[in-house]
Amino acid sequence: MKQLKDLNIENKKVIIRCDFNVPMKEGKIVDDTRIVAALETINYCLEKNAKVILLSHLGRVKEEADLAKNDLSPVAKRLSELLKKDVLFCEKTRGPELESLVDSMEGGDVILVQNTRYEDLDGKKESSNDEELGAYWASLGEVFINDAFGTIHRAHASNCGIASHLPSAPGFLIERELNALKELDNPEHPFVVILGGAKVSDKIGVIENLVKKADKILIGGGMAFTFLKAQGKEIGKSLLDEENIEFCKNILQEYPKKIVLPIDVAVTNEYTNDEDYREKDINEIASNEMGLDIGTRTKELFEEILNTAKIVVWNGPLGVYEFEKYKKNTDELLKYIVENNIKTILGGGDIVAAATKAGYKEKVYHASTGGGATLEYLEGKTLPGIESLK
Ligand code: AMP
Repeated sequence: MKQLKDLNIENKKVIIRCDFNVPMKEGKIVDDTRIVAALETINYCLEKNAKVILLSHLGRVKEEADLAKNDLSPVAKRLSELLKKDVLFCEKTRGPELESLVDSMEGGDVILVQNTRYEDLDGKKESSNDEELGAYWASLGEVFINDAFGTIHRAHASNCGIASHLPSAPGFLIERELNALKELDNPEHPFVVILGGAKVSDKIGVIENLVKKADKILIGGGMAFTFLKAQGKEIGKSLLDEENIEFCKNILQEYPKKIVLPIDVAVTNEYTNDEDYREKDINEIASNEMGLDIGTRTKELFEEILNTAKIVVWNGPLGVYEFEKYKKNTDELLKYIVENNIKTILGGGDIVAAATKAGYKEKVYHASTGGGATLEYLEGKTLPGIESLK
């Protein structure tokens, strides 16, 4: 796979697939983090006097009413402020208006095209990687850069479609994500995996893939209780993924030393932040109690194991971190990792949200931005958006 720096983009028409899927409220951008993150690649292209054509999706477009809700024009405005230069917005995703805008571009110009998913209204052309649409968008440029990591696990016309027609490379955001995640392909040892979150079913692929490579898998969160149930323990009203008890039994049997389960737990009687909780030994959960966080002894056990780790990947919070009372041990373990410089990759989704909330996101070795994309990478799946750049 070529790197962006290997591509000749000088004075060329460069199409960049960005992730401008920003949260919006009543037509206003609530958080511009993703726009700011795209600046590095865009500015690099502008320094090379490229003619920059930007594509991105925003939300989902299933019916006519979704069009206005997912209009990308506010992004052009914000991007223009951030780049300190004009960003022309094309209302149309194809046709003469777009083509003449592109034809009139000079080096250093920037165009943002309307939401690529407007094309989904007519037969899901963007999301089903319609061959003709990918070829059409590619015909507008000479080089393609994909910098939208969040959609890299999907084959869409605006990523795979375009890439199959033009010299292509990942942008700096994707390059950084891949460089970090690749360290898990042949990890240094001890390699420790921390898994939390709600359901075992969401993590089966990750467990099956990583259990072979990891030295330890530390399990917390709601999913721990299905493993504990598989060991025959009383878990009271804690979260149970009934269908996967058998899977947990098998994994525990095959890898008894690798899987580390909670030894104590914070329990309460209702799923709320309002009731008091108590810490209990894992063998003492009553039938009317539910575990909403790991306990202090478990956290200390996890710290002890992490202390010797050479690399760690963590997916899913260890408790109901949305409730003030049950985010404690997730936060404390994050703090331990940061303070002890333990090389840790946060694997997208809720654990990154928890780290952001607690102020640790910028302090860990790498916090991956792609929820679904990162999870599929950890499951060992090939990502079509990456394959298409090769
Ligand atoms: P996931 O998307 O699979 O990473 O799951 C994240 C969710 O798991 C969060 O919304 C947490 O509230 C939830 N979670 C973590 N620990 C528990 C627990 N002990 N009981 C119920 N839900 C939990």
